[in-house]
Amino acid sequence: MQYELKQSRYCLRMLQAGVCLLMILCVVLTACVPERALAASYGTVNCSSLNLRKKASKDSKALQTLDQGTTVEILGESGEWYKVTYGKYTGYVMKKYINKGKNSTSASKSSSSSSSAASLKSIGKPSPCSVGDGGSNVKKLQKCLKALGYYTGAIDGDYGSGTKSAVKKLQKAKGLKQTGNADKNTIAAMFGESVSSSSSSSTAKTYTTERLNWFKNGSSRIPKGSTFTVKDCKTGKTFQCKRWSGANHMDSEPLTKSDTATMKSIYGGTWSWKRRPILVKYDGRVYAASMNGMPHGTTTIDNNNFDGHFCIHFYGSKTHGTKKVDSTHQNCVSQAMKYTW
Ligand SMILES: [Zn+2]
Repeated sequence: MQYELKQSRYCLRMLQAGVCLLMILCVVLTACVPERALAASYGTVNCSSLNLRKKASKDSKALQTLDQGTTVEILGESGEWYKVTYGKYTGYVMKKYINKGKNSTSASKSSSSSSSAASLKSIGKPSPCSVGDGGSNVKKLQKCLKALGYYTGAIDGDYGSGTKSAVKKLQKAKGLKQTGNADKNTIAAMFGESVSSSSSSSTAKTYTTERLNWFKNGSSRIPKGSTFTVKDCKTGKTFQCKRWSGANHMDSEPLTKSDTATMKSIYGGTWSWKRRPILVKYDGRVYAASMNGMPHGTTTIDNNNFDGHFCIHFYGSKTHGTKKVDSTHQNCVSQAMKYTW
């Protein structure tokens, strides 16, 4: 009995000593590490112009000037400074000029850059699009911009001024020209890929041309409202289009006046029903297809200089009128299979 009591007291003492040691260790550790790493969070610049400095000192070189409302990722803190990343820069900004966790949905979830990369992946890559566009592709873009903390508006699929300014912020952060249009390079940069202007053939992504079985999965693979890019196999010219409808095949319209001009130049300046082998690039994949070059029927885009739509056929797709597989289109699809993007 006596022995057991002694033993339990001994245990208690040991436990107390252990706790003490642990506490001392914590204090020492905290004091010794002046720059504390924080769980990734975001902050917004609250003054008209803020210097991002190389070191945590007012005398240190300014790497970049940040405008009001710019979102930065906070990596850590050191005295009255936050260590942040902004685009390609990592540096220090004064804490008092940063509203932590404001203007960013990511902040509330305390997401790290790896989890925002994961959420981007789950959203999927939008196709290039620009102001005035709408639909599911623009929603995808808005979700990506929101996941990265650049966009705070509604996911309404409407590429208006809010989306434009979010794209501009992204472009500024990535060191791209601030056009406000989500072009190929902007989307690549958003997904952390190298942009084509700086990438040589060695880093450029190579695509495998796929045969898309229209009635099996083709129609759902490129949903109505999607914006995609067409490359004419023979001339190598590219232009952007939007799918507006089509059950037997993909009824599409050139996106803008300049896309229409490119398409017309592919046809030698005269619209015609002649079929041409093309590649269709959408959502990071390239498909063999065939198009005709005659504006006809319904038009949904008013200001693209293209009065109607044109038809894009894939493997197994059928025409409007005969509801049969068109052998000339299928020939072109076969020819397109021999080309790569
Ligand atoms: Zn059609």
